[in-house]
Amino acid sequence: MSRSPETRIIGGGVIGLSIAWRLQSRGASVTVFDAACVGSGASWAAAGMLAPGGEFEEHSFWSEAAIRSLKQYPDFVGQLEEASGTSIDFRVCGAFELAYSEAEALRIQARAASQDTAGIYSEQFPASRVPGIRTGACAAQYYPYDAVVNPRELLYALKTAAQRAGVKFREYNPVRQIAANDPYDATVIAAGAWSSAIDSPVLIPETKPVRGHLVAFDEYAGLCDSIVRHDHTYLLRRAGNIIVAGSSTEEAGFERTLDGCVAANIARRAGDLIPALAGSNYVAWNGLRPASDSGPVMQRVEGSNVWLAYGHYRNGILLAPYTAETIADEIMQANSRMDSPSPAARLR
Ligand SMILES: Cc1cc2nc3c(=O)[nH]c(=O)nc-3n(C[C@H](O)[C@H](O)[C@H](O)COP(=O)(O)OP(=O)(O)OC[C@H]3O[C@@H](n4cnc5c(N)ncnc54)[C@H](O)[C@@H]3O)c2cc1C
Repeated sequence: MSRSPETRIIGGGVIGLSIAWRLQSRGASVTVFDAACVGSGASWAAAGMLAPGGEFEEHSFWSEAAIRSLKQYPDFVGQLEEASGTSIDFRVCGAFELAYSEAEALRIQARAASQDTAGIYSEQFPASRVPGIRTGACAAQYYPYDAVVNPRELLYALKTAAQRAGVKFREYNPVRQIAANDPYDATVIAAGAWSSAIDSPVLIPETKPVRGHLVAFDEYAGLCDSIVRHDHTYLLRRAGNIIVAGSSTEEAGFERTLDGCVAANIARRAGDLIPALAGSNYVAWNGLRPASDSGPVMQRVEGSNVWLAYGHYRNGILLAPYTAETIADEIMQANSRMDSPSPAARLR
């Protein structure tokens, strides 16, 4: 029988917490270390779109992973709600991609055709029937399977479910170095934008922070039942009639001071697109997306007991179920191989 692998997870964002919960539920013994309190990184700041249609232009390994992860979401959320005893605002609400010029219309239609071959389904929709938007849209593409989740409720449920399953937490406890003679059976680096700053005996791909601001408007019933996207602006509705609008893409290192001009620009773009929001009060926040040149990093470092799970950039919330499943499977399999006698030993 396999013994439970002692696993250390470095980073308690959506990725680290999802892996921790899945692993502990499968019999591992997991400790999560976080430099701050868990769930205070990019995951807390995310909009919560689960939207392959807004993210992937064509077929790739990651477009497939995103589609699979989206399909896993209803069960993921259902199981989490049960395990945590909390509720999570999750809706398959669909998304509208809008065009306000002929050139934009051609672009979104060409993109939809390319996405179709990648398994991302969408259909043309009469732009004049998209509710709440500024007049003048000349085309709309509807993505019926795109969804939203409230990332903060997700994080709370993940931490609660993980704790109930027996995961141990070491908050305000940064791991700066992985020693070569590490006592853990497995270590997972899931420290988001900070991952490659951890000193490790194995070479790991670089990650860097890409800051993004969001704004939220309070109490707007009836708006944005579906996600609305145009160019670099998107809007979605959370429970409680809160409309979230994004976003920005800024290379500002690890600086997280709010930039009022960036937030005002997003609020203005949101008001341009949904006139009912123009001039309304808003609150703003930001977070650091973990970017990596090679795309998300999700692998075992060959010949070591270190797993990497970071660099999910704009799609960490979407990819969390898939990442957790994959990494948890690999660690449990590696552990059972470690425990089963080698073929030579079995012959003796
Ligand atoms: C504005 C914005 C909007 C976004 N919108 C979406 C969206 O709509 N949909 C979507 O799918 N994704 C979205 N994202 C991306 C998503 O938020 C990220 O991809 C995801 O949260 C990454 O999760 P993570 O767990 O890897 O990192 P994080 O959530 O950043 O967690 C990393 C954790 O590691 C900890 N840590 C750092 N260093 C150490 C250390 N040395 N030791 C221990 N712990 C450490 C940190 O304190 C932190 O808690 C958005 C991001 C931003 C900023």
